Amino acid sequence: MIKFFSQKLDILYSSRRAIAKENSRNSNRKILAAHTTLADMLKEKKALELELARKKARRESAEDDETSLSALNGKIADYVKTNSLNFAAKYSCPICKDEGYINGNPCKCLLEEYNTLLRQYASVSPIPKFTFADNSYASSERPEILAINKLFNIMEKKVCDNFQNCKWSNFIFSGASGIGKTSLAAAVANDLLEKNISVFYVTAFELINVFLDKHTNKQSAMSKLFDYVSNCEMLIIDNLGSEPIYKNVTLEYLFSTLEKRLADKKKTMICTQLGAQALINRYGESFLKFADKKHSLSVILG
Ligand SMILES: [Zn+2]
Repeated sequence: MIKFFSQKLDILYSSRRAIAKENSRNSNRKILAAHTTLADMLKEKKALELELARKKARRESAEDDETSLSALNGKIADYVKTNSLNFAAKYSCPICKDEGYINGNPCKCLLEEYNTLLRQYASVSPIPKFTFADNSYASSERPEILAINKLFNIMEKKVCDNFQNCKWSNFIFSGASGIGKTSLAAAVANDLLEKNISVFYVTAFELINVFLDKHTNKQSAMSKLFDYVSNCEMLIIDNLGSEPIYKNVTLEYLFSTLEKRLADKKKTMICTQLGAQALINRYGESFLKFADKKHSLSVILG
């Protein structure tokens, strides 16, 4: 789980615990008001426990009190059982008692909350509902179709199924429109989200708006996503080359984002209709280092 959501989850779980505590306090108060016999026994128990502690501190024999206390505890337990009273706090998750963790491991409820956040942050406009299972490119003999089919397999088996150990940081896929790049990008995004891996799927056009709002200090939904662009484990930029070039923004923010992500060993997938030369013409020679074989899987389709 990435740190980006830690604070949100901490707040959620501490408020859940506070609610559970408050609810059980209220419900216990009601139970005791309706069962005065029990309330009296509990008072007696408290007094006995005090007396016992006092005697022990003075190193006096407390045998009688111990016997009375254990008898009283038995009576209390019987009363609670006979009247089917329930004093247990009502947590929204009884498994982890709204702690979110069990023995240091995230509880199922926490993973579900985390996934809800991942999906909320995963894109600006909805991700196409395409999955690896929907890939039907395998049935064609056309070379460009074979190439995209091979890429589907690599992205599924070597990247998504092996995410933490995958050797590549960058994925740059170039090819004409309609060849299946967006379907591939969507399949990767949907698969990683299923696996609780943080993804930000964005068109280059939307991404530039995130950068632009950040650059102009505009407090918009877009500018709020700026930090997620560098923090998510997989950034998918679709249709690079279709975005406007704004002076001091497009190239500057794009490069600093790509550089930071590469330095942090975070993965970035770029789909573009531009070929190698067109990419250099538009973004400059510096773009080449992101496509370096050392850390990048770069494929020209068709
Ligand atoms: Zn739980």
